[in-house]
Amino acid sequence: MNFIYALNFKMNKTATETKEYMQKFDSQNRTVIICAPFTSIFEIKNNHKDALIGAQNVSEFTSGAHTGEIDAKMLADLGVKYCIVGHSERRKFNHETDEQIAEKIARLVEQNITPILCVGEPNKMAFEESSKFVENQIKLALKNVQSPVIVAYEPVWAIGTGDVPTNEQIENMCEFIHKCLNELNIQAKVLYGGSYNSKNYKTINNAKFVDGFLIGGAGLKLDEMELIYKG
Ligand code: PEP
Repeated sequence: MNFIYALNFKMNKTATETKEYMQKFDSQNRTVIICAPFTSIFEIKNNHKDALIGAQNVSEFTSGAHTGEIDAKMLADLGVKYCIVGHSERRKFNHETDEQIAEKIARLVEQNITPILCVGEPNKMAFEESSKFVENQIKLALKNVQSPVIVAYEPVWAIGTGDVPTNEQIENMCEFIHKCLNELNIQAKVLYGGSYNSKNYKTINNAKFVDGFLIGGAGLKLDEMELIYKG
């Protein structure tokens, strides 16, 4: 299966550390998107000409009086092709709302950057409830979108905890997300994210309706990812 692997470095790796990582990086002909901190983006491009460059955030505004913000045009100018939006850590710690997330997605699309929209229920709950929660997040974030997107299903309770859903739970939600996006007429790839690593990838890779993975902790380690890329 030709999976997409989107690596979320979060607030890890200095520019020097990213340079070292990229000099040893071998995607083994896999589709790997490196979502590095803003300060490291130029090191992805400079040290690996074929790497797919992602960012982890973007301003909902275009250029102007927004101190400390980075707009979509600045990302596009650096060669960024993908950007994570609505990660649960930003929803929680930066109080990002669905309205802001929709604006960020609009700014990215204007610059031909593919959004990687993160959705997922905050706690373990029954499918009837979690699917409503996720559907609402999708509808609010993508209300003005017609172009292709990537949606990452990340149950918040699985991120960084080692507590992963069963394949059946992943399949049910990813199938549901594909259905929602079809109804909205949006072309999309659906990723799974949450404690995916070299110990559980063989099992999770068998889940149906999954086009790839959004990976946090494991993505920081080249040796762990090499095992995963081999399949
Ligand atoms: C994430 O933060 O998007 C994530 C999936 O993290 P981890 O793989 O560490 O659970």
